[in-house]
Amino acid sequence: MTQVADLIPLLPEEEMARRLRRANSPNPELWDLLDAVMDPEIPVITLYELGVLQNVELRGDSVYIVMTPTYIGCPAMTVMEEDARAALAQAGYLNVEVETRLAPAWTTAWLTPESRRKMAAYGVAAPDGDKAACPQCGSEDVAVISEFGSTACKALYRCKACSEPFDVFKAI
Ligand SMILES: [Zn+2]
Repeated sequence: MTQVADLIPLLPEEEMARRLRRANSPNPELWDLLDAVMDPEIPVITLYELGVLQNVELRGDSVYIVMTPTYIGCPAMTVMEEDARAALAQAGYLNVEVETRLAPAWTTAWLTPESRRKMAAYGVAAPDGDKAACPQCGSEDVAVISEFGSTACKALYRCKACSEPFDVFKAI
């Protein structure tokens, strides 16, 4: 993880701490196993890339996972937890405890530029503060159509430049 040091000045403190937890983890194989778990709603980015996976470690013969939802009440969290348990079970880790941690709250600032690119390619925009850009053409001349997009965790926008509708990720 040589890139960690390069990212530090650009990252919020909690996100830097999360990356260091992974970089310094005594159980890197557990993080690697969970890299197989994708966001069920944006299946091109992993729970780690999304910033949901906060920590994973061995405690005795159990695996202890900490996850922070992107949005309170996000129904995808249940699927994410089940998928994480399944990925670990395949590798023989059958005792898994999952803690859902709400504070500090997830923010789109935890997304890497790479995660944002992957999401945009999938047609979902991650807002930057309260601004969202069209994933098709990059225009910021956009309007909210509905607070609820394809899922409760996303809002539906329309781009005024290319008139394409798109989903925007909601933060807590
Ligand atoms: Zn557009």
